[in-house]
Amino acid sequence: RVVVVGSANLDLGVAVPHLPTPGETVLGDEVAARPGGKGSNQAVAARRLGADTLFFAAVGDDRFGADVRAALAAEGLPPDHLTTVAGIATGVALIVVDTAGENTVVVAPGANARLTDDALAALPATLSSDAVLVLQLEIPLATCLAAARHARDAGARVVLNAAPLPDPVPPTMATLLRHVDVLVVNEGEALRLAGVPTTDWAALAAGLRTHGPAACVITLGERGAVHADAVGVTAHAAFPVDAVDTTGAGDSFVGALAASLADGQSLPEAVHRGCAAGALATTRMGAQSALPTRADLDRFRAT
Ligand code: ADP
Repeated sequence: RVVVVGSANLDLGVAVPHLPTPGETVLGDEVAARPGGKGSNQAVAARRLGADTLFFAAVGDDRFGADVRAALAAEGLPPDHLTTVAGIATGVALIVVDTAGENTVVVAPGANARLTDDALAALPATLSSDAVLVLQLEIPLATCLAAARHARDAGARVVLNAAPLPDPVPPTMATLLRHVDVLVVNEGEALRLAGVPTTDWAALAAGLRTHGPAACVITLGERGAVHADAVGVTAHAAFPVDAVDTTGAGDSFVGALAASLADGQSLPEAVHRGCAAGALATTRMGAQSALPTRADLDRFRAT
């Protein structure tokens, strides 16, 4: 089983001829409302790949909250662990994309900032030694830490995608990292967490293990990924694809990695599947809409 504790947003996207400068008004296309947020994306990614997936998140008591609930239900994610926070707006990401694919994003966390440990009362009962808990950093760090502690008590593994990484990195991160089994970061996050300037990703992955995680995975975009564990460091080549939109590649990677680990596969196999799912997500527009199903992934890996 995969248990995700994280953010749920409604993404409001609009295409514009050029990004507005301060004070400027630009006319855009019709607005598109889509479910998003790293927690929601990663839960949907794991679910589409066939994992028994539960999602703990908070939405507001507004229309967007109802939209988010409906979208998750349509993906087969039970609403049981979605908390509705009264008087607070659902998290929203305002995304503006120009014709060159450049974007600006404003995130209003709303109810995600109110996902406190009270909302995790049912979490311990969902965790056992074969469960994989998946966390990101779009909810309060204290809630991530509480969730990770529950997982430790249950003997479940903890996967932390340390994104987005706050600047500066808060002191609580050091405590959280000691409760993590598999840390997943991209290049920028790896550099800031380690605090050393280097492009030796293998050394960096191995070095991040000294912060607590038994294993560390650094995703390298079109150059694949590298993982370090007690056995050593392994580089994974990217699957060659014609990328059209890299949004959601990281979430696709994390969801697939978690689903694979929950399925009993080894870390190298899980990273390999993550790379395949990440690559596949770049071949389609959008974030959640681009996440592959199990059939998509099997077909892709067979070619
Ligand atoms: P993030 O979006 O979090 O920065 P990455 O860009 O590193 O994450 O992408 C996550 C994973 O998706 C990578 O490790 C890689 O396996 C895959 N991926 C991303 N971009 C490409 C690409 N252009 N071609 C092939 N695989 C890709």
